[in-house]
Amino acid sequence: MSTPLLELRKVTKIFGGKRDYTVALDDMTLVLEEYFPKIIAVVGESGSGKTTTGMLLLGFYGPTMGQVLFRGRPLHELKGAELFRFRREVQAVFQDPFAVYNPFYKVDNLLSIPIKNFKLARSKAEARELMEDALERVGLRPEETLGRYPHQLSGGQRQRIAVARALLLKPKFLITDEPVSMVDASLRSTILKSLRALNQEFGVPILYITHDLTTAYHISDYIIILYHGSVMEAGNVDSIIRKPNHPYTKLLVSSIPWPDPDLPWGGTEEMIQKSQVAFKAITGCKFAPRCPYKMDICETKAPELFMPERDRVVACYLYRDHTVLPREELSSVFAQA
Ligand code: SF4
Repeated sequence: MSTPLLELRKVTKIFGGKRDYTVALDDMTLVLEEYFPKIIAVVGESGSGKTTTGMLLLGFYGPTMGQVLFRGRPLHELKGAELFRFRREVQAVFQDPFAVYNPFYKVDNLLSIPIKNFKLARSKAEARELMEDALERVGLRPEETLGRYPHQLSGGQRQRIAVARALLLKPKFLITDEPVSMVDASLRSTILKSLRALNQEFGVPILYITHDLTTAYHISDYIIILYHGSVMEAGNVDSIIRKPNHPYTKLLVSSIPWPDPDLPWGGTEEMIQKSQVAFKAITGCKFAPRCPYKMDICETKAPELFMPERDRVVACYLYRDHTVLPREELSSVFAQA
């Protein structure tokens, strides 16, 4: 078996101190392969651990326990050529790609700097050609885009430039975190199509992190539903959305489409807060405070990942008659047709 490109190995991430802490991600193992050109959505409401998952995989956070590996090597130990390779091969598209970008740099820099750093072109003319091609692929006119400053462009244009940058680099893996949440509905499909093209034409696997079950359903092949840092359900996106098993997933799916995008899924603010207060005291299933099917066993021990079908798992005692999939083997459900 080849070494995976990226891996979370039994990773727990805790924020805060001894008394006041939050378990953002709880014993998560996720293996992401280079030659598995699929889109896996990581979906959850605020506090689910989805963004933490992306930040850990990109090396922006270190794990509290466990390991984050790039080609079998701990991410925090990478130096020199290995670190350069990681930066080239693993790219990210965030909600607002220009939030961390110097506002006095023209947008050209976002494209020209990686071309220079990663030696993608042999001449200025070739570099220009690469930039223009990448912009056109995401539906932007190079003559209206290059030479401008970030504030002269709309949120949708800025986000498409970020996708163009990813297209240009043709990474081995792309991590996107809420790439269309700040974009008008009319532009959402353009950006999602660009991501799909990157995935299908160039075989780039994508981890699509979002709070939005609808776009996750449209773009992804597989899905992981997170709740308070733990996997509730995972597997084939069609099977899970069409026939959700976990009570939490059922709640989410029944809320589509969400009339108020600011309201967290599956309940009022009051319900969500109640479950979050109760969360730290929970030893069993994290969803128990909100679950209408709760049984005695649910409060004593966290459920395993049960496998009601070969391409999906569910962390719920309602499915305890089915085979248990060890948590370390979660990614095996993504390889099932
Ligand atoms: Fe509900 Fe129990 Fe299933 Fe948790 S394990 S979702 S509490 S039925």
